[in-house]
Amino acid sequence: MNVIGVLTSGGDAPGMNAAIRAVVRTAKYYDMKVMGVRKGYEGLVHGDIFEMTARDVSDIMHQGGTILQTARSLEFKQIEGVRRAISTARYFGIEGIVVIGGDGSLKGARDLCTEGMPTVGIPGTIDNDIPYTEYTIGFDTAVNTAKEAVDKIRDTATSHERCNIIKVMGRSSGNIALNVGIATGAEAILIPEREIDFTRDILGPINAGKKRNKKHYIIILAEGVQDSDGLEKQIESETGIETRTTILGYVQRGGSPTVVDRVYASQMGSYAVELLKDGTGNRIIGVDKNRVFDIDIYEGLDMPRIIREDLIELSKILSI
Ligand code: ATP
Repeated sequence: MNVIGVLTSGGDAPGMNAAIRAVVRTAKYYDMKVMGVRKGYEGLVHGDIFEMTARDVSDIMHQGGTILQTARSLEFKQIEGVRRAISTARYFGIEGIVVIGGDGSLKGARDLCTEGMPTVGIPGTIDNDIPYTEYTIGFDTAVNTAKEAVDKIRDTATSHERCNIIKVMGRSSGNIALNVGIATGAEAILIPEREIDFTRDILGPINAGKKRNKKHYIIILAEGVQDSDGLEKQIESETGIETRTTILGYVQRGGSPTVVDRVYASQMGSYAVELLKDGTGNRIIGVDKNRVFDIDIYEGLDMPRIIREDLIELSKILSI
């Protein structure tokens, strides 16, 4: 292939820029042309497409977000939208596409493949919730941002003898909560993958902490679990401990990407171009035992969800 397109789609994630940079630089290395598509599938359907030069990706590695912008496209979810996107891409001379995004975006990439456009998907989402890969771009930065916020909240919780509920992102996945909770020594980690028993999971650790003269209690709540208002009131009424909630929200999506995100994003972006250069589409890229690999897009997206029982178990042991 000589001309490829690149787009970012769905929620933005720190490290997407490093992936775009790697796509452009690797393509230039092989004398291929790269067409940047703005605003994800929306831009592909409507032709918001421009030729990218090596300069377009200078000085972007350290920036969060995505220079190509991202969007959610309802039109693309219909088969007519997919077909329109492909004819627009062909009009711009695009022979293969790199899609960087989360679960929904990779399903969109699969539709492009089915309709005849060779496409390679790169997992980019802070949630790290895509079963075929151990890692998704943005996760490390997001958990580090959340970890720093929790460390700061812990300082003030100690001064006031409070219980703090900290709600973190992750949609229907508890991966961010689980990792942040373990990294910050939270008393309780509440995730959607595990049914919550108030007495066992919340009162138990708080009462055990009281006996040891603990001065603060940190509860990490994944956004997919439950409304934090009700939880706050229930903890106050059953323990008498003043309880406050902090919702971290979009702060977790921002910030300069960590080394982990930059290196994986660079590897995956470059790998995607290597595949398309040789005419190989219909693949998605992932990480397995710290190595970047590719797998058939249909097979990869059909894999069942993995629940990190080992981390759940560890969190129970360490919170007693
Ligand atoms: P994140 O996990 O960070 O939110 P995402 O890629 O999962 O990212 P979505 O909003 O689910 O974000 O998807 C982004 C876009 O991908 C959608 O606007 C839509 O155009 C396309 N898309 C989503 N789901 C599908 C699907 N099942 N089939 C085809 N295309 C889809």
